[in-house]
Amino acid sequence: MSELIKKNIEDIKNKINILCNKHNRNTSDIELIAVSKFHEANKIQEAYLNGLAHFGENYIQEWQKKSDLLKPNLPDLKWHIIGHLQNNKAKFINDNVHCLQSLDSLSLAKEIENKSQLNSKLNILVQLQIDINDKNKSGIQIEKTNELLDFISQSKKLLLKGFMGIGPAEIEHNKRKDLYYTFVENSKKLWNVFYNNPQNQKPIISLGMSSDYELAIECGSTMLRMGTAIFGDRNKS
Ligand SMILES: *Cc1c(COP(=O)(O)O)cnc(C)c1O
Repeated sequence: MSELIKKNIEDIKNKINILCNKHNRNTSDIELIAVSKFHEANKIQEAYLNGLAHFGENYIQEWQKKSDLLKPNLPDLKWHIIGHLQNNKAKFINDNVHCLQSLDSLSLAKEIENKSQLNSKLNILVQLQIDINDKNKSGIQIEKTNELLDFISQSKKLLLKGFMGIGPAEIEHNKRKDLYYTFVENSKKLWNVFYNNPQNQKPIISLGMSSDYELAIECGSTMLRMGTAIFGDRNKS
């Protein structure tokens, strides 16, 4: 089993290299996040020992257990919360979170500001809605980001690092491509307004999962969130 994770990581890294060459991207501009939800801590350790340092979890309680378990042995492991976070779970956010990718509302931002256990600023990505026709409708609509970004700019706890998006489940390829390009463009526009003078800094653009990472690289993603392609199918019991 461990051999399989090792091979999967090698295969993905090779593919990312090939795609970067093809689309004129730098491999070093693309961060790979291993999405470990529903997978046991020993699998995370395996992926870590094979060169991955960033891991994504969706559910706060599941993340806490794994974080506590792995922290003594793997202090450099970096956790990303990528699932929708309910306001009443904001109190569980602490300095063990490296990045919250799913900040999608002003009310959640306020809860984190007031209720979290953070001692230092938290890296955050604002999750933007990619497709207004998507039934899951995850993420904040572009038109509604003003208030949220204003709040973040004043915040003592939140540090904007970029934007995250989840592609729609089923959609025709060219339509998906248009949506991804638009999402990347919107992310850059919001970033430039937010930071005024961002010459040296670029936003993180977290887009692409096991099924769509190739297109995501083509469209300008800088962070891939991949679970199945690394760990295999999830056991959702
Ligand atoms: C589960 C999940 C992923 C990983 O999905 P795979 O298809 O297994 O690669 C990525 N991003 C988010 C937000 C997820 O919930």
